[in-house]
Amino acid sequence: MGHAGHIDFHCHLDDPCFDNDRWRIIDRCLAAGFSRLVTAADAHDERSLAKTTEILGYHGALAAVAGAHPHQADGYSPLIERRLLAFLDRHPVLALGEVGLDFYYDLAARGNQEAVFRRLVALAQERSLPLVIHSRQAEGLVLRILEEEKFSLPVVFHCYTGDGAAAGEIVHRGYFLSFSGIITFRKAEALRAVVAATPLEHLLSETDSPYLAPEPERGKTNTPLAVVRVVERIAAIKNTGVQDVLEQVEKNFRRLGR
Ligand SMILES: [Zn+2]
Repeated sequence: MGHAGHIDFHCHLDDPCFDNDRWRIIDRCLAAGFSRLVTAADAHDERSLAKTTEILGYHGALAAVAGAHPHQADGYSPLIERRLLAFLDRHPVLALGEVGLDFYYDLAARGNQEAVFRRLVALAQERSLPLVIHSRQAEGLVLRILEEEKFSLPVVFHCYTGDGAAAGEIVHRGYFLSFSGIITFRKAEALRAVVAATPLEHLLSETDSPYLAPEPERGKTNTPLAVVRVVERIAAIKNTGVQDVLEQVEKNFRRLGR
């Protein structure tokens, strides 16, 4: 069969911590045969949008999602939304994201998070864009909102950390779970059980870099190169080959419609 390359479905290449070695890191990924790097732009931050424009122009393997993070939901405004829409008009983004609810850090009022999320779900539907979801301890409400808003396009729960029951419902609805280096952490037995129970057909790989370096690099600055370790771990959990995982992840990626 073919030689599918790695896909880092979610990273933050716009992050200032990459300002000194961004292009070198991307070049290393390309040299390693990565097929896609999906960087997440955030409309709350003009710098993020400008940097993402620059990144998208660097190489065809680079793709982007754009959204408004729930951490900043208290600051969401018509200005932020205009920025987001202008970015969507100018760039062929894969999806609207990351958007969602974070009831773990609770950095914004839950009511505001929910209102902004509903607004962005409607916007994605209007623009026929899939959604990339950020959810921490809020999977049940996220799923309920997607249903209530009658969202009908593909959905990916990025950096999935929820439980097996919510994962089962996500798969049941035909959505995707994207797993990060967290699955390599020593205490992540429950999450590894979720990986084991998730059909390969519903699974994607990501780093969420510069956050969440996998073991044994935990605590250091993470880069998309570490998706290799995430895929190795998925293959081990699934008792299959790395190439089999890569081929299925690539198929899943295409099913997002872009
Ligand atoms: Zn996130």
